[in-house]
Amino acid sequence: MRRKLFAANWKMNLTPSEGRSLLAALRAHLDPDAATLARDREVLVAPAFLAIPAAAQALAGSAIALGAQNMHFEAKGAFTGEVSAAMLRYFGVSHVIVGHSERRHLFGESDESVGRRAAAVAAARMTPIVCVGETAAQHDAGHTLEVVLRQLQHGLALIAPEQATTAVIAYEPVWAIGTGRTATPEQAQSVHGAIRSVLDDRFGNPVAAAIRILYGGSVTEENVDSLMAKPDIDGALVGGASLKADSFARIVRAKLQQG
Ligand code: PEP
Repeated sequence: MRRKLFAANWKMNLTPSEGRSLLAALRAHLDPDAATLARDREVLVAPAFLAIPAAAQALAGSAIALGAQNMHFEAKGAFTGEVSAAMLRYFGVSHVIVGHSERRHLFGESDESVGRRAAAVAAARMTPIVCVGETAAQHDAGHTLEVVLRQLQHGLALIAPEQATTAVIAYEPVWAIGTGRTATPEQAQSVHGAIRSVLDDRFGNPVAAAIRILYGGSVTEENVDSLMAKPDIDGALVGGASLKADSFARIVRAKLQQG
């Protein structure tokens, strides 16, 4: 049984002190039930880089893991504006989002660069969260699977089977991100099922069955239960609704089927 993963992507929001306050509030919601929740779910927050040190302090002693929103694939050097694996690991970062659609579409990250980032995250013994997802135009033209599966192949191209078990995929249709227009559970499940079968072809069954596939795109406390009821939806990557402690805590407390 895969434990669900609920991951908060704060994007370019929250200063270190705002992040600290949000995490104190989130802990007040979740810490009392941490042991029960941990049986079938994990929680992760990915602050902006500069808020990571404050978040690491605010999360000390909690079950909530610390993530980052991106990472460069080189270990060090002349890469202005980038951060390395060692810099993130220094603060206890355990998961790194790579290939978010905002990185791809606003900052020109290529499929190939996403694959190199994912491999560097895994090589540094952190968990890559590899994001894939089609734009509205690609969706409307019926190209969803072609786009998503191409991004998936490139994103995992340099990941070895022994590293893949802990890798996480996030299916985030671009038309659903920040728009309030969520994919239906059926739409999401059909893409997640296709992703799972590609993972199966590439890594074989025990590995493919262990990989978590998150859904992201306007997840809220209202729609999370029905999404989580689908067999291949293993958690959520949450943007807007993760910026309020009570909303995110309610998402984390989604009703899960007994598995
Ligand atoms: C995201 O950007 O990863 C995301 C899912 O955002 P939102 O929840 O706001 O749609």
